[in-house]
Amino acid sequence: MQEIFHFDSPPENYTADAAILCCFDQRIRLAVHKFLQRQGILRPDMIVVAGGARTLASPRNDFERDFILEQVRMSIRLHQTKRMFLMSHSDCATYGGLAAFDGDRGREADHHQQELQRAAELVKANFPDLTVACFFVNFDGVHAVNPEPSE
Ligand SMILES: [Zn+2]
Repeated sequence: MQEIFHFDSPPENYTADAAILCCFDQRIRLAVHKFLQRQGILRPDMIVVAGGARTLASPRNDFERDFILEQVRMSIRLHQTKRMFLMSHSDCATYGGLAAFDGDRGREADHHQQELQRAAELVKANFPDLTVACFFVNFDGVHAVNPEPSE
């Protein structure tokens, strides 16, 4: 093979600081990256798919949900992952964007909070030892969502 790009990557095995499930939307990528660094998550196992936490909260089919759960299982098995971050974001095209909420950011945020909580319940049911945290990303930053639904 011919090297077309030289870059030195750390070859050591690692323990993942967290598994991160987030959307592939390019607009939030840098915010997520900087947020993870700020949180001390320097070795994340990134599970980057359209919709992020939606794939667990409102999967389009069983295959989608099971595939993501399998990725989490692999992260735990291969990289001893003990934490998971579930993320969704504003104007996500898989939800029909902000337009699906008639441009109402409050309604959108409420809906995503419920989605994240449902995703968290599924993760906890499948991986009781995993610590789960939920985050909603908008164009101002990252917002913590309590993974437990309030009464
Ligand atoms: Zn998205």
